Amino acid sequence: SGTTVGFVGLGIMGSPMAAHLVAAGHRVAGYDLNTEAVTRLANAGGRAATSVADAVAGAEVVITMLPADPHVEQVVLGEGGVLDTATPGTLLIDMSTVRPETSQRVASAAAERGLRALDAPVSGGEAGARQATLSIMVGGDEADFARAKPLFDALGKTIVHVGPSGAGQVVKAANQLVVGGIYALVSEAIVLLEASGVDAKAGLDVLAGGLAANRILDLKRESMVARRFQPGFRIDLHHKDMGIVLAAARQAEVALPVGGVVAQLVQAARSMGYGSLDHSALLKVVERFSGH
Ligand code: NAD
Repeated sequence: SGTTVGFVGLGIMGSPMAAHLVAAGHRVAGYDLNTEAVTRLANAGGRAATSVADAVAGAEVVITMLPADPHVEQVVLGEGGVLDTATPGTLLIDMSTVRPETSQRVASAAAERGLRALDAPVSGGEAGARQATLSIMVGGDEADFARAKPLFDALGKTIVHVGPSGAGQVVKAANQLVVGGIYALVSEAIVLLEASGVDAKAGLDVLAGGLAANRILDLKRESMVARRFQPGFRIDLHHKDMGIVLAAARQAEVALPVGGVVAQLVQAARSMGYGSLDHSALLKVVERFSGH
């Protein structure tokens, strides 16, 4: 029993995810450009693969957890990549956050070669990956989702098949749009409270108990008021994700005016040198607008 899995991309998220699959009884061959990450998986009971093709060899399912679109394009569609080397019937699950259009391109290129593909981006951060409590939003065919479900069960808690290829990425884009917007507004609330001489902690405590309550207020209001911005989820990654949000909006021919503003705020944070801080550091941008 158990599935033979090739896992490419053993970073902050992929490393604990691959280890959970090993712990759940699957045979996992892992590959990453970073050889230390490969060694870590081998120490956790996986097989150290020496290339993408080596990780894919013999795999029934290939999972990718890579930074962004160009990496997925290279590893999946490129020469010697997953589609080039996998045997027909193999299921490719891309769990990276990329453009919906990239997932659709991967799925049709896979189908042309007799392979199957799902897009399955995640939410929940590093903690969610470590604790196997990720939310997983899945785009693709129902039968492929059913085949992947036992693997997802080892990684997450909220696992939803949301539609055809690309739909998982659209849901993830919507998630990042809302998260970015909430960070921007909580930042504006803090700046308003402090500049008015009101204790921001006390003010946000009240907000967290009323209609404005949300998880970001719950989890981050203390660290934001204290100006603690160590990641977490880096501004640089949220910048990438706002690019995906606006690309998805363009593909769907819709206007997201607040999303556009949020994207510019995240850009400003990056331009001001905050790219490696947590995305709650949007507060620093909002403060600077008021000369604080
Ligand atoms: P990461 O940079 O820590 O990991 C990516 C890994 O891919 C790295 O180890 C890198 O060496 C490897 N890699 C890059 N190109 C490669 C190639 N050609 N061949 C083999 N390996 C290659 O990133 P992460 O934080 O694990 O994020 C991965 C994805 O998950 C991103 O799309 C991100 O947006 C998404 N995500 C991240 C979080 C988070 O909190 N970090 C939360 C949800 C979703």
